[in-house]
Amino acid sequence: SGATVSTDVVIIGAGPTGLFAAFQCSMLKMNCILVDALDEIGGQCVALYPEKPIYDIPACPAIEGGELIEKLSEQIEPFSIPRLLGRRVEGLTGSAGDFRLETNKGDVIHAKAVIIAAGAGAFGPNRPPLEGLEEYEATGAVRYSVRRKADFEDKSLVIAGGGDSAIDWALSLSRLARKIYLVHRRDKFRAAPESLSQLEEAIAKGVVEKITPYQLKGLQGSEGKLTGVDVATLQGEVRTLEAEHLLAFFGLATDLGPIAQWGIDQTRSTIPVTPSSCQTSLPGVYAIGDIASYPGKLKLILQGFSEAAMAAHAIYAIVNPNQALHFEYSTSKGVPGSA
Ligand code: FAD
Repeated sequence: SGATVSTDVVIIGAGPTGLFAAFQCSMLKMNCILVDALDEIGGQCVALYPEKPIYDIPACPAIEGGELIEKLSEQIEPFSIPRLLGRRVEGLTGSAGDFRLETNKGDVIHAKAVIIAAGAGAFGPNRPPLEGLEEYEATGAVRYSVRRKADFEDKSLVIAGGGDSAIDWALSLSRLARKIYLVHRRDKFRAAPESLSQLEEAIAKGVVEKITPYQLKGLQGSEGKLTGVDVATLQGEVRTLEAEHLLAFFGLATDLGPIAQWGIDQTRSTIPVTPSSCQTSLPGVYAIGDIASYPGKLKLILQGFSEAAMAAHAIYAIVNPNQALHFEYSTSKGVPGSA
């Protein structure tokens, strides 16, 4: 029931680096298509921290995750690049100049080259093994990220986890929530010292209550409406915390999923590439952004942008086999609609 499409370059993943790769390909007059498993573009920036500021994007002293993605989307707007969203790429066969990809929705994509900008893979949060969990996820009573802080205004919440995300959100939401129970299976939290001292202040004010060493045990409520969260110690001592929401921050599963089946050399969670071109072990297939690794790699958005440019320039030779690419600045090329 899916679509069949042909393009020069297929970009797997519409996170920040995939979006910028689409711009780079377009500037070199190559057609491309963006595919993402999520229903929205933006990768981690939108799925995990749309309202968190980023301070290390060149020329942007501070920009929130969601805002950065809006700007990247605006930058490719003139090129009208097709986006296949809500589709996971499952299969990749063929060779440079003639690849065939398949999605879980039955789409078939023919492409001359492939850019894998898949971040941590078709990622998902680590979910706690609790009975009836799906029912509460469906209504948004249980969540793994904060999309809109206002959703938690005057609410009673359980935040679970012992790392930076759990602490940062407990601090941030303590300004508007009615009550926050911070549940962790150990007594100590793993977070920046500054965050930990702010946490002590929030606890002293009474909005945040530390529940340690406890683990999640069960959910109370009905028809997706949460009324309480059961927690237990290792010794089996159980408490029920009254709450309308559970926010669990147990990290992301970094499973490459289907990508592991494509015959490309990889480590457990990354694809090693040639640093000068970002080519993988399979000619015609490139990897950029968080998923790409080489000595000195930094998992930062700015490095992903640079990798996108290198991959696009390397791919030019595959799409235009008999044409040398003369390096030009963007000024001399312009974008459609620019003066
Ligand atoms: P991602 O953003 O992970 O996007 C990959 C996309 O590929 C996802 O949308 C996924 O659904 C899709 N995908 C994967 N597999 C498939 C498949 N088989 N089919 C279809 N789609 C697929 N970086 C900074 O530079 N500065 C910061 O301040 C900063 N702060 C951060 C704060 C937090 C809390 C986190 C979690 C990260 C932060 N980062 C920061 C890191 C930054 O977000 C990542 O480096 C960046 O998102 C990587 O971009 P990407 O495009 O490579 O991958």
